[in-house]
Amino acid sequence: MLAPAPLFVARAARAQSDADPAITSARPALRVLLGPGEASPGADGTFAFQGRLYRGSFTRLDDGQIVNLVDLEAYVGSVVPAEMSPRWPAAALETQSICARTYVLQRSNPGRPYDLVPSELDQVYRGIEGESPNATAAVSATAGKVLRFSAGFAQVAYSSCCGGHTEASSDAWGGIPIPYLGGVVCTSCSDSPYFRWSSSLTLESIASSLPASLASIGDLVDLRIAQRDASGRARVIELVGRNDSVTVQGSAFRRAVGPRTLRSLLITAVQHWPDSPDIDIEGGGLGHGVGLCQWGAHGMALAGAGAAGILAHYFPGTVVNDLER
Ligand SMILES: [Zn+2]
Repeated sequence: MLAPAPLFVARAARAQSDADPAITSARPALRVLLGPGEASPGADGTFAFQGRLYRGSFTRLDDGQIVNLVDLEAYVGSVVPAEMSPRWPAAALETQSICARTYVLQRSNPGRPYDLVPSELDQVYRGIEGESPNATAAVSATAGKVLRFSAGFAQVAYSSCCGGHTEASSDAWGGIPIPYLGGVVCTSCSDSPYFRWSSSLTLESIASSLPASLASIGDLVDLRIAQRDASGRARVIELVGRNDSVTVQGSAFRRAVGPRTLRSLLITAVQHWPDSPDIDIEGGGLGHGVGLCQWGAHGMALAGAGAAGILAHYFPGTVVNDLER
């Protein structure tokens, strides 16, 4: 989620029409890769693909995959309720809308026949089926609003719950430190069911997810946090084998065991009893923790903050203003 942030570039893709003028913009169409299959035009500027209706139009790539050409605001209207509960306060949904919109502006890629995929690899997008009135209202209330830093768009990232301190992008993903993604204290996300968690993993399942190149350490018998970053997350993890020990980057370890299995790298305790097949891990937060803490936005919104104030907290030094300025 941290590619350079070029201005969105118009290409051949154009939306044929838009069904709901309340959530449309004057910008060129986005190109969202839906996948292989058959699409058929529907009424009012929609089309059907694999049992779902989508706004805008479609084109077929040479390899048979269908690309949805969709208006930016219509796209954001479907993404917001997929990425955040539409039952959450309006200010949180407005915050998510601005994040989702800004994220798109970093994804334009003239070198590819599409800009985005409709999954968590970019943002979850389910067409009209994904829309919700509360989210549509939040998208409309923030129409055209984006997050900027200096002369460009801010590089936006978000995750569910930071556990009390957001993560620096440079710690999570490497690269140079980004001034507004350095990590901040968050006191608003304790309502999350994953603010604190514990889980029990088997050593065998952890070992089976590790690359074969680590097999020389022998059977995995323990793991330890070797180094933490400024947010408290595990930067380096020591894997203790029967023959040898090795250290791995925390982010690589979480990728290997699976981000759903290891909810975050904010690991507060690791406990392994001798000869037990299991290892008990306690931690905080859900997700990478960089940028917006969504449960923090929920908490700040309940406390009366608006979207601009929430974004200023999680992306310090950025400003919200109009895309078309
Ligand atoms: Zn938080």
